[in-house]
Amino acid sequence: MGHPGLLEIVQQNEVMRFGSVFAKLVFRCYGGVTAYLNNFPALDDAQAPHRPMRLPAPEVHVPMVGDKALGLTRYKGGTLGPVILAPGFGVTAASYAMDTTDENLAEFLVARGYDVWLFDYRGSPALDASRQPFTIDDIAREDWPAAIEMVRDNTGAADVQIIAHCFASTSVLMGLLAGMKGVRSVVSSQTSLHPISGWFNYAKADSHLANLLVQGVPKAMRGLVDGIGLPPALGDIVKYGMKTVDMVSIVDPSAEGYMAAKTLDALLWPVPFPGEIPCYNPVCHRVFGVFGPSFAHDQLNEATHNALGRVFGKISTEPFLQLAEILRWGKAVDAGGADTYMNTPENIDIPIDFVAGGKNRIFLPETTLRTLHWLRATHKDAPKNMFTRVVFEEYAHMDIFIGKNAHHEVFPYLLDRLRARDGGVQA
Ligand SMILES: [Zn+2]
Repeated sequence: MGHPGLLEIVQQNEVMRFGSVFAKLVFRCYGGVTAYLNNFPALDDAQAPHRPMRLPAPEVHVPMVGDKALGLTRYKGGTLGPVILAPGFGVTAASYAMDTTDENLAEFLVARGYDVWLFDYRGSPALDASRQPFTIDDIAREDWPAAIEMVRDNTGAADVQIIAHCFASTSVLMGLLAGMKGVRSVVSSQTSLHPISGWFNYAKADSHLANLLVQGVPKAMRGLVDGIGLPPALGDIVKYGMKTVDMVSIVDPSAEGYMAAKTLDALLWPVPFPGEIPCYNPVCHRVFGVFGPSFAHDQLNEATHNALGRVFGKISTEPFLQLAEILRWGKAVDAGGADTYMNTPENIDIPIDFVAGGKNRIFLPETTLRTLHWLRATHKDAPKNMFTRVVFEEYAHMDIFIGKNAHHEVFPYLLDRLRARDGGVQA
């Protein structure tokens, strides 16, 4: 594989861990791949002080879908909303309530009178269900309706407002197309019904890398893999595929799987970070390696960058097959690749406000523009402001929610959209 000596590098790290304070400092500043492998961001985050949260005590609810438990965490700020906040794939809903920025989105909305519900659906590593196989159809047709029903039952509200990011956004739009009711309006962040990705994800989709990752190589080729001499942990991945993928590396050297995790980190060291300073956080390398550039580094403060391991985690690789299928088609299709969603545009009869990052390279800004055009073309009689879109030029993807200045530069616009849709379509 062209990476001889990786294990030696890992072992060398352990020796260097016990160096003098000065040597350690130099090592952290100039240590390159070896400093990266020691995962100092995770160690720094473990010692970081926590500021008090400006949130009421959370109310935890557990919507059930069959035997699968989902998660809803309620912060009741007032009578506005209720509003459901849903994160992207591989990220917990707690990412909307991090204490590493001056004000997170949950605090921002609670302070302005909103009844805020953080939604962990099956793409969230906070759930056991995220590590079992599931499809994006399951989220669209089962998870979203269950969450909406539970919020309406508990609040008595006729309908809910939703801010959904990445594949929470695509899946809620798919749910609406499939006939889901009880939604007043959606702020649809970054990903839509027509995802257009960067070259990196197309390379993965075109090469059927997702299939390889999930299922491994064909049975007849497994013997060949043994002959390559890969580290055992990696050889097993290539032969049998990965049922789950974890964005968080193992920090504790005595933990089971530490060496395999460090081997994977070492392989991901060269992942490209477009036009940016070097990053020494293994979580970032895993996130960028699996999904692509999930945020612009210059929009995150150091505390948030260090804390990424708190909100990213382990999920099933199964939904990546449907994601690759959607990327190949350029529109939402079901897990079998069939066009079962896009023939009922009339089912989206509520306001949708798209937001995009001008520097997004996972899902290009055109992603939301295409769906905006599609909705306007299929709803010719609707008021023009029923479907809107705004681009935050200096942002990429997830940083519009966890960026250090998001509470000044992005949240006021989200608030404006929620308020505009209080009375329905007229804005
Ligand atoms: Zn980083």
